[in-house]
Amino acid sequence: MTSVVERLSGPRPVFSVEFFPPRDAADEQRLWLAIRQLEGCEPAFMSVTYGAGGSSRDRTIRTTGRVVQETSLLPMAHLTAVNHSVAELRNVIGWYAAVGVHNVLAVRGDPPGDPNGEWIRHPNGLTYAEELVALVRELGDFCVGVAAFPYGHPRSTDLDGDTENLVRKFRAGASFAIAQLFFEAEDFLRLRDRMAKRGCDAPLLPGILPLTTVRTLHKTVELSGAPVPPSIARRLEPLADDPKAFRAEGIDVVTELAQRLIDEGVPGVHFYTFNMSKATTEVVGRLGLLPARA
Ligand SMILES: Cc1cc2nc3c(=O)[nH]c(=O)nc-3n(C[C@H](O)[C@H](O)[C@H](O)COP(=O)(O)OP(=O)(O)OC[C@H]3O[C@@H](n4cnc5c(N)ncnc54)[C@H](O)[C@@H]3O)c2cc1C
Repeated sequence: MTSVVERLSGPRPVFSVEFFPPRDAADEQRLWLAIRQLEGCEPAFMSVTYGAGGSSRDRTIRTTGRVVQETSLLPMAHLTAVNHSVAELRNVIGWYAAVGVHNVLAVRGDPPGDPNGEWIRHPNGLTYAEELVALVRELGDFCVGVAAFPYGHPRSTDLDGDTENLVRKFRAGASFAIAQLFFEAEDFLRLRDRMAKRGCDAPLLPGILPLTTVRTLHKTVELSGAPVPPSIARRLEPLADDPKAFRAEGIDVVTELAQRLIDEGVPGVHFYTFNMSKATTEVVGRLGLLPARA
C-alpha cells in the first residue's frame, strides 16, 4: 500500500489536488472530468473532503473508492469528528479501509451552519483532531495527515499555543500536515519554523487556491482569516473589473508563491481545485511539475 508520506519523500517536489464530493449527477460529471484531466498530470495524491456531520459521508466513500478502482491516482479521504460518535467514526474508517483507502486527513471540522459557532462535542464523540488521529491509527495501517494554520486557527488566541496543538497531532500519530490558505510565503515559512523550534520536521504542504476570480480572492480571505496584503492588493484589485486580466495576474501570483516555497524546500504543493482542472494544470505546468513525456 502506497502512503502519501512516501510520495512526499522523493527527491523532487510533487503536487496534489483536493476535490469535494459531488452533490448531484451534473456535479459528479464535472468532478470526474476534472479528476480525469488531472490524472494525466500525475499528482502524488488526490483528496476528497468530508461534509460536516457526515452529510457527504457516502459520497466521499463512493468517490474515493471509485478512484481506487478506476484510476491510477492515490486517494486520501478526509474525515471530521463533527456530530459523530466514536462508534460512527469507527464505522466510516472501516468503510475507507474496505474500499481500499488507506490515507486519511483527520480534521475536527466546524459546527454545521455557523463555522464560528460554539463547538459542541458529540456526547460519545471526540473533542480535538488529535483524538481522531489516534483513533484512525489505532484502527489499521493508515497514513494520517492533519490541518495546519499559518495564521493560527481562528479559535486560537495565541500562535505558540496553536503550534503546540499542531505538534500534539504529530505525537498522536500524524505523518504530515496540509496548510490552510495563506497569502505570502513568509506566513507559511514562519509556521514551518515554529514547528521546527518544537523539534517537528514532519512534511508540511502549502495549500494553494489558484486566484482566477475575485471570488477566489474573497474565499482566500475568508478561509485564511487574513486580509489581502498590500503586495497582492496592488496587483489584483485594479483588475477587479477585467476578468481576463485578473485571471492572468492571479495565476502569476500563485505561481510565484508556489515557486518560492519550492525553492524553500517544501516536499509538495497541495491545490484546492474546487473541482476544476484548468488553472491547477496551468500553474503546475509553469512550476515544471508535470510528468516528462517521452
Ligand atoms: C487542509 C484542510 C482540509 C480540511 N478539510 C475539511 C473537510 O474535509 N471537512 C470539513 O468539514 N472541514 C475541513 N477543514 C476545516 C477544519 O475542519 C476546520 O478548520 C476546523 O475548525 C479545525 O480542524 P482541526 O483538525 O485543525 O482541529 P483541531 O486540531 O482539533 O484544532 C481546533 C482548535 O482546537 C485547538 N486545539 C487542538 N488540540 C487541542 C488540545 N489538545 N487542547 C486544547 N486546544 C486544542 C486548536 O489550537 C484549534 O484552535 C479542513 C481544513 C484544512 C486546513
